[in-house]
Amino acid sequence: MVKDYFSHLNAEEQHILKNKGTEEPFTGEYNEHFEAGIFICRACENPLYESNTKFNSGCGWPSFDDELEGAIVRHEDLSGGRNRTEICCARCNGHLGHVFRGEQITEKNTRHCVNSLSIKFILHNHLETATFGAGCFWHVEKIFRQTKGVYLANSGYMGGDTLNPTYKEICIGDTNHAEVVNINFNPKVISYIDLLEIFWKNHNPTTLNQQGADIGTQYRSVIFYYSDLQKVSAEKSVEELQGNFSKPIVTQIIAKDKFYRAEEYHQNYLNKNNLGSCSI
Ligand SMILES: [Zn+2]
Repeated sequence: MVKDYFSHLNAEEQHILKNKGTEEPFTGEYNEHFEAGIFICRACENPLYESNTKFNSGCGWPSFDDELEGAIVRHEDLSGGRNRTEICCARCNGHLGHVFRGEQITEKNTRHCVNSLSIKFILHNHLETATFGAGCFWHVEKIFRQTKGVYLANSGYMGGDTLNPTYKEICIGDTNHAEVVNINFNPKVISYIDLLEIFWKNHNPTTLNQQGADIGTQYRSVIFYYSDLQKVSAEKSVEELQGNFSKPIVTQIIAKDKFYRAEEYHQNYLNKNNLGSCSI
């Protein structure tokens, strides 16, 4: 007897997973969702995608550039007069969406276009969060992205006065948002103190609202803390480091604020564009 993976789903979910339907674009709960965790099949709970493969393609559906090994099956789909590749869950064959190649949005050059109603998010409870501003976020993100124990490093904005800021707005310089990198890390692999060390090593914390040629409040040196422990660790690291500088450290240490993920073209910017650093 074939197991029925779909009977517990509601009508909308069955329409997508069982009858290969499509939800309206920009309506799904995971379209603008960028937390650290794993997406499983809503029908059979098979793990499908790590959230560090998720990106914002602007298409209106959750987009991933890689699947978990063996999680997905592909079928040729000639419906609607188009030649597409349908993707389904490898365990229950529930419909997820379609996969496209060659759009050059991320390094992997692949977009799994998935219905939110086909998947379910499970938070990675073992990860902690840290946020640093150390000048241009392209450079800071690249360094943390390649650090062992860092699951996710997203470029974005924090600490300003406006809601949903855009890059254009924060560059005008009067929103008070800092360019930051939001990091989800595994404290069993890398400690917060180690992250602080990387932060200090990779910028000049003594120049107020300036890193090299980049001038403005969005380039300020800032640590947004998520706990009293992070706050104390950050303050202690300033005391320890001050002796290495002739000028005072001007880094702000302030409580976390809402993180606004930057536009997709800023994510992994230097790697995507084959640039070594910002100063090119
Ligand atoms: Zn499934």
